[in-house]
Amino acid sequence: MRDVLPWREPVPLDGTMGEPRARGRFGEYGGRYAPESLVEACREVDEAFREAWADPGFRGALARLLAVHAGRPTPLTPARRLSEALGVQLYLKREDLTHTGSHKINNVLGQALLATRMGRRRLIAETGAGQHGVATATAAALLGLEATVFMGERDIERQALNVFRMRMLGAEVIPVTTGSRTLKDATSEAMRHWVGATGDSHYCIGSVVGPDPYPWMVRELQRVIGDEARAQFAAELRTGVPDHVVACVGGGSNAAGTFAGFADTPARLVGVEAEGGAGAARGRLGVLHGCRSLFLQDDDGQIVEAHSIAAGLDYPGVGPEHAHLRELGRARYVTVTDEEAIGAAVRLARTEGIVPALESAHALAWVISAAGSGELPAGSTVLMTLSGRGDKDVSTLKELL
Ligand SMILES: *Cc1c(COP(=O)(O)O)cnc(C)c1O
Repeated sequence: MRDVLPWREPVPLDGTMGEPRARGRFGEYGGRYAPESLVEACREVDEAFREAWADPGFRGALARLLAVHAGRPTPLTPARRLSEALGVQLYLKREDLTHTGSHKINNVLGQALLATRMGRRRLIAETGAGQHGVATATAAALLGLEATVFMGERDIERQALNVFRMRMLGAEVIPVTTGSRTLKDATSEAMRHWVGATGDSHYCIGSVVGPDPYPWMVRELQRVIGDEARAQFAAELRTGVPDHVVACVGGGSNAAGTFAGFADTPARLVGVEAEGGAGAARGRLGVLHGCRSLFLQDDDGQIVEAHSIAAGLDYPGVGPEHAHLRELGRARYVTVTDEEAIGAAVRLARTEGIVPALESAHALAWVISAAGSGELPAGSTVLMTLSGRGDKDVSTLKELL
């Protein structure tokens, strides 16, 4: 079979997606660019997480929470009718079936458990569309912690239902009125707030972004997706690993968690970004929110606003490990338009009976177009992470369909 993909032949890279080098470096990306007091707070989180992650007691407690509260393991679903139409064998890793409806709960339960272990009584979080805020409020309620969630004023207007859910769960939602009043500003505000509250509060970041140790800590907490999927795929197909592993990329946590399960295999890794939020595909080197990575910038180095119909992909950058994987040629990053994502969402609903989140629909849109163009050779096996369910998007879709 001829392969038209321009990437290098993937070799199992020992050490890829292992621990970052000293001071949280993935190649030239990552690091801990923060004010002095936060550098110290990050150091404490790093130390506590390393200790916890090496402790079977902590791992066991987290595994139990994921099972009895979040509904893991999630199934691997063969998309039979769609596969037949596309000429490939597509399998969906169903993060949409977790409690609260997306992969965000995996990370949040881990960080909330870590916060209690560190003696913290409150979680601070940023949120865009509200998915990470709802997951944080959920974990806080479950473990008896307080939750303070920063959210841009514009997002508060657009996502009234999630704001209500957070308040229902007992969280305090603080409107952010600076800048563009969206996710980027909410993140800056949450970090600023943490400076004055490091003694009793844990900052629970929602993706593989921010200062060290967050990018690798969040990836480790999300690798349950990839580890489960690898075992399920092997049991289902006996051919070992899929030819392609695909996931959507906002900050990059569901993709990083998925890729981590396959980094040491020959599987080809594909991250799918929104056309208007393509930090990995089109960003330039910069520093934002405590780390060095790829960000959309203008000629003066100012961060450019991201635009996507999927709120979870509306971030102008990408996590540092993705920047590194891209540079190594280990993963490839592609983009999809709003229209393609909407088309893919409708197609999945009507062929498989699954209404996906618009974020996840981006990953599917690439699979559909790559199967059509021959980039995905006939018969190839594709594992795609379905990061969340579409309930949150029905009002957006209602206006378009
Ligand atoms: C938040 C979110 C994303 C994007 O975040 P990543 O960190 O890139 O995974 C994708 N899908 C859903 C459903 C989300 O809620």
